[in-house]
Amino acid sequence: MSNILVNIEVAADGSLRSSTAHLLSLAARLGEPVAVVAAPAGASEELVRELGALGAGAVVVGESPASTSHVAAAAVAALAGAIASHAPAAVLASTSPTAREVMGRLAARTGNPVVVDAVGVTNDGGRIVASHSVFGGNYVTESGVGAGIPLVTVSSSGAEPAPAVAAPVVEVRRLEVPTQGAAAITRSEVAAAASERPELRSAKIVVSGGRGLGSKENFVLVEELADTLGAGLGASRAAVDAGYVPQSCQVGQTGVSVSPELYLAVGISGAIQHRAGMQTARRIVAINQDADAPIFDIADFGIVGDLFTVLPQLREAIAARTGVPAGV
Ligand code: FAD
Repeated sequence: MSNILVNIEVAADGSLRSSTAHLLSLAARLGEPVAVVAAPAGASEELVRELGALGAGAVVVGESPASTSHVAAAAVAALAGAIASHAPAAVLASTSPTAREVMGRLAARTGNPVVVDAVGVTNDGGRIVASHSVFGGNYVTESGVGAGIPLVTVSSSGAEPAPAVAAPVVEVRRLEVPTQGAAAITRSEVAAAASERPELRSAKIVVSGGRGLGSKENFVLVEELADTLGAGLGASRAAVDAGYVPQSCQVGQTGVSVSPELYLAVGISGAIQHRAGMQTARRIVAINQDADAPIFDIADFGIVGDLFTVLPQLREAIAARTGVPAGV
């Protein structure tokens, strides 16, 4: 099986980005997953253990002090080296701003083509094929590259985790990172989270509300359900425009794109602009009183009913299962 390189992003506090598990599980479905990470000297042991637990069969660690000050340049150096040594069929990265920068620089450095914003990747008899959600989510297109190794940025989705690898094959190399004249990160601090809820883009469960809630006060019902499920909070543009929640919650074409394991749409009609941002979710559950609402066309489970009746019942049912009282 061909090697599939995965660009591993490490946060300033040393933790792996939440997209790592999805990328490694996707790589394991395409071929042999090889995690490539740039890190300071001596940081590799814990990283290797964590990456093995997420399914990396091999880990290439590029050691350089520049891995924290010149993050993209160090990642590019590590990936370029791994491309030369591992002859991969593809390189996968997340759609984070840093990963996009890394893939663009890597393309320039190695002369390989970039495929951006894929929602899925398959291996079609040795040819790597990326799928894209286009025209407001109305169509899914498939594309491959004519030559070279595809460098693919792919959005996270709730895929089954890859089986853990107890002892991945490890290669540690010293990286030469050209940093002269480049901007450097000299200090970083984690901003206090505005909310205790999971971040919308990477949340495994997203609960979203729409105009059907009718008011900011009623939207609290959606927020309570999100908190009961430990979910990220989303909304339609109509709910945002009506002032129920801030714009940062908007899911859709002109908002955030999410691909959680579970997406719960409450009082949302399912306009194509909304669907563009959530239809790659693994499971979609919709609550709407209109049986003809378009959201039901893409829902795995649909509840036709008044949300003001359904939501309290849903919270009671969840409370009965989890043992946590509905009001908590
Ligand atoms: P509505 O379409 O009004 O639907 C409300 C739903 O609630 C209805 O289906 C109704 O049956 C149901 N309902 C009402 N009362 C109850 C009740 N008591 N119980 C149960 N169900 C109830 N939209 C986005 O969401 N995201 C975007 O990023 C986005 N970008 C856009 C970009 C452009 C260029 C344009 C033109 C539009 C965009 N829109 C976007 C807007 C989009 O077209 C829709 O207008 C919007 O998604 C509708 O939001 P909604 O479903 O909450 O409201």
